[in-house]
Amino acid sequence: MNRRGTLNPLVLLLAFVGSAPASLAGEWFERFKGEATDAVLHRFLYAMPKGGDLHLHLTGSAFPEWLHEIALAEAAEGVAYYVKTRIDNCSVYAGQADAYLLLYRTLDQHRLGALSECERDEYQALGALDAEARAAWMNSVRLDAPYEGRDEFFERHWQRLGDLLRNPHVVAEILYRNMQAFADEGVAYIEPQVPVFGFLDRTGTPLDPEAVLVLYRQRLAQADARATGVAVRMQLSALRFHPDAEQVVRRIYQLAAEHADIVAVNLVGREDHDRGHPLRFLDTFRDLRRTYPGVRLSIHAGESARPDSHVRDTLLLGAERIGHGLNLIQDAPTLLSFRHGPYLVEVNLISNLLLGYVDGFDAHPFPEYLRTGVPVALSTDDRGMWDSTLTDEFFVAVREYGLTWAELRALGRNSLAFSFLDQPSKSRLLAEYERRMDEFATDFQRRGPALLDDVQPLRRGFVCRRYGLCAPPLPTGAPGSQSVGVNPHGTTRNKLVFHGNG
Ligand SMILES: [Zn+2]
Repeated sequence: MNRRGTLNPLVLLLAFVGSAPASLAGEWFERFKGEATDAVLHRFLYAMPKGGDLHLHLTGSAFPEWLHEIALAEAAEGVAYYVKTRIDNCSVYAGQADAYLLLYRTLDQHRLGALSECERDEYQALGALDAEARAAWMNSVRLDAPYEGRDEFFERHWQRLGDLLRNPHVVAEILYRNMQAFADEGVAYIEPQVPVFGFLDRTGTPLDPEAVLVLYRQRLAQADARATGVAVRMQLSALRFHPDAEQVVRRIYQLAAEHADIVAVNLVGREDHDRGHPLRFLDTFRDLRRTYPGVRLSIHAGESARPDSHVRDTLLLGAERIGHGLNLIQDAPTLLSFRHGPYLVEVNLISNLLLGYVDGFDAHPFPEYLRTGVPVALSTDDRGMWDSTLTDEFFVAVREYGLTWAELRALGRNSLAFSFLDQPSKSRLLAEYERRMDEFATDFQRRGPALLDDVQPLRRGFVCRRYGLCAPPLPTGAPGSQSVGVNPHGTTRNKLVFHGNG
């Protein structure tokens, strides 16, 4: 529901005469919202400085065009990728029909070489796909059709990406592309959940998690990554319903205890799967706390439409932040314990809508949390697959719930204050955030929408489909559907600072 048209006329009047009481501070923003088209509002929110993104899965945060470019660049390093583009009814093994029948699955040359000749013929080199097949491959990892939902996302997207996500160089490059894109929309900090298991080096030899982390760190240390100005700390996660999940939790907890740049442990995976319920892990976490100090927990809980005690049980595990927390609204005693309290809910509006956990934005508990004092921050979850940005999360929030300037600032502040950054870094980023927001608000009040003239927001598929905010057409022959964001207010401004400081 669009509430921008329901602003109280008195608010607008007071805003225009410039004599609003203190409670209406930010009246310039109310006036702007009342006048702005969707396109101008989106541009404003793209340019607006942001704090952090505390909830994103690194491998779900790559736009398909990035994956395509990164995968093809691996050819220079001796790794070639192949895509299943047809099914010739080769031998199907019992219990593997679903995997066999999956089109657009991506394999490297090592795995392709192990297939029968019949199956090998079902694959084409990624670089040799024609425009139609390439578009279909990209579309196969986007959740953009009405009939797609939870099953497509959980059971097919990741499986299709296949061997791309077993190459740590590909994932490290995804990390860099994210830093770049987040910097362009003014984000100062990200806390991605990064994978460390099941990787192979370029010759096909297995790599242990420590070796994978070394490659991530090397990528983060390169000049182009540092020049984005985006601070990065990593989380490690365990698939909660896996039969060996406890062992994985033990391993990642140990890694988090040993490495300062791994700041938290998470549990991921479908909560409608019975074997992944939070209390399964209570003894494991209690046991680990006997040995290791200082490991923080941010855990998915309440990503569900039905009432259960998962959020409360997850607090019992020791979590300080809850991912999604959708059904917290149905657990009154636990909800009350969140108000003005020590825990934060990481809200993912677009994810919740596209995976069908809410029927519409008017059914989302986010405004109730925000306006009853439950600490919340906006985050992107798997935005590569939603085809969206953090700006889009803010756009949905303002457009659907009429957020005020004070509420926008509180969201940004929370996204840093509840981060797992060390205290000196957190204090520095918080101070920087306040300064950037003050400056942006002052500049906007002085210059008005003209401040946004040089801003070209990244417009992805989600806002195009839902709000008609589509990217300008690309020149003929350009691959993909990506627009390029330009934001003189983004954190990439810090490039100058970075080079200036050597
Ligand atoms: Zn998530």
